[in-house]
Amino acid sequence: MAYEAVIGLEVHAQLKTQSKIFCQCSTAFGAPPNTHTCPLCLGMPGTLPVLNKKVVEYAMRMAIATHCTITKENRFARKNYFYPDLPKGYQISQYELPIAEHGFIDIELPDNPKKRIGLTRIHMEEDAGKLIHHPLLPISQVDYNRTGVPLIEIVSEPDMRTPQEASAYLKKLHALVRYTDTCDGNMEEGSFRCDANVSIRPIGETTLGTRAELKNMNSFKNVEKAIQYEIERQIALVEQGKKVVQETRLFDVNKGKTYSMRGKEEAHDYRYFPDPDLIPLVIDDHWIETVKNELPELPDARKTRLMTDYQLSEYDASVLTSEKETADYFETCLTHINQPKLVANWVMSNLMGLIHSENLTIDQSPVSAEQLAQLLRLVHEDVISGKIAKTVFEEMAQSGKAPELIIKERGLVQVSDKNELLPLIQKIIEEHPKEKESYLSGKTKLMGFFVGQVMKATSGKANPKMVNELLKKQLS
Ligand code: ADP
Ligand code: MG
Ligand code: ZN
Repeated sequence: MAYEAVIGLEVHAQLKTQSKIFCQCSTAFGAPPNTHTCPLCLGMPGTLPVLNKKVVEYAMRMAIATHCTITKENRFARKNYFYPDLPKGYQISQYELPIAEHGFIDIELPDNPKKRIGLTRIHMEEDAGKLIHHPLLPISQVDYNRTGVPLIEIVSEPDMRTPQEASAYLKKLHALVRYTDTCDGNMEEGSFRCDANVSIRPIGETTLGTRAELKNMNSFKNVEKAIQYEIERQIALVEQGKKVVQETRLFDVNKGKTYSMRGKEEAHDYRYFPDPDLIPLVIDDHWIETVKNELPELPDARKTRLMTDYQLSEYDASVLTSEKETADYFETCLTHINQPKLVANWVMSNLMGLIHSENLTIDQSPVSAEQLAQLLRLVHEDVISGKIAKTVFEEMAQSGKAPELIIKERGLVQVSDKNELLPLIQKIIEEHPKEKESYLSGKTKLMGFFVGQVMKATSGKANPKMVNELLKKQLS
C-alpha cells in the first residue's frame, strides 16, 4: 500500500523585546542563573502581571506578515501544568481568543513552484524556566531567567506532505521573523524552535491518522531528518499490523532516530480558563494600520519587485530574497554597478558558496557588497574575464585586498589586444590541421577545442569574446 505523510508544525519564536512579557526583567540571554528575576516572574503570590505593549506589536507584525486576521478582542488564558520550571503552576498563554487566526504563507520548492500552507493561529505566551540536571550528582537546578520571556507560537494547518515541504515552510517563517525584526531566529540558543506533528495515512484517505509530536530539533536539517525517520517508523509499524500511538517523541541527533518521551496530553488536560488577572486586550484598526506602516518590505513583495525591476527569474528572485541580508547585499551591489543579472549570478553562486563553505552569514562576508561591485565592474568592462574574476574573488576573500591591486600584482589583466591575439590564434590553427579540417567539414563543436587552446596558451587571460570572433574569421 502507498502512504502519504501529514505534517503540521508548531513554532515558538522568542520576541526581541528588552523586557519580559508581564514584568520589567531583562530578556538577555546568557546571564548568570536567576539574576533576571523578580517576585512576579518567580510566581510569588499577590503579584499582578502587566502586559508589555511591544509584545503585542511584535505579534501583530507577524500576524500581518502571515496574512492572518487579527482578533479585535483577545484574551489571555491559564494553561495549567506542574513542572519545576513553571513557578506559578500555570503558564499564561492564549486559548480560545488568540491574537491572530486563519493566515497562510506560500512556500517554494524546486518541483512545485508555489504551495500555500495554512496558518491556524498565532498566540502570545510566556516562556518557562530551564532545568539543569547535574551530570554526576542526583540533583537538578532551575534557572528562572527565561521565565516570562515573551513567545509567539505559530501553529500551521496539517498541510505539509514531505519533510522538504516542512523545512521550506520553516525557512520561510524564519525569514519572516527576521524581516519583521521580531525574533533573532537563533535556533541554537532556542529563540526559534519547532515541534513537528507527523502522521501517515493511505493515499486517498481523507481523515487524519494518529500523530506523534517531535521535539528537540535545533536546525532545519534536523527537522527534515527527524520527520523522515518518523514517517518511515510509522509506515513500518502499520505494515506490521501495529498502531501509531499519540505521544511526544524526542529526536536524537547523533543516532538520527526519534524515541518516545511521554504520552501526549490532550487540551482538556490543561484545564484552560481565562486569566482573571488580565483584562481583555482590545486592538483597533488604527493600531493595526500603525503597525502595518512600520513594517519593512516583506519577502514576497520584495521578490515580485526584484522580478519586475531587474527582470530576474522567479527562482533567482526567491533565492535572493530568502534572507533579508542577502537581498540587501544584492541591492547594495546594484547601487554601484547596474548589471542585475551579472550581480545576481555572482551573489547566488560565488558569494553564497563562500559563505556556506566558511559557515558565515552574509553580514560576516569577507567581501563586502562594494568590493564585489568593484570586481564585477572590471568583468563588465572586459578588463578581466569571468573565469579570472573567480580567482581574484577567492584572493579578495583571503586577503581583503582590492581587486585592482590583485590583478596588477598577479598580471591578470585580460588580453583584448587584437595584434597580440591574432598571431597566436593563427599559430594554434596551423598546429592543428586535422581539427581545422574537421571543423571546416561541419564539426562546429571543435570551436570549443580551439578556444580552449588559446585560453591555455594565455593562462586564461585572453578575452573570450574576441577569441571567438577571431577564430571564426580565421577558420572560415
Ligand atoms: P497541541 O498543542 O496539542 O499539539 P495544537 O493545536 O497546538 O495542539 O497543534 C497541533 C498541530 O498538529 C498543528 O500544527 C496541526 O496542524 C497538527 N496536527 C494535528 N493533527 C495532526 C495529524 N493527525 N497529523 C499531523 N499533524 C497534525
Ligand atoms: Mg503540540
Ligand atoms: Zn520579572
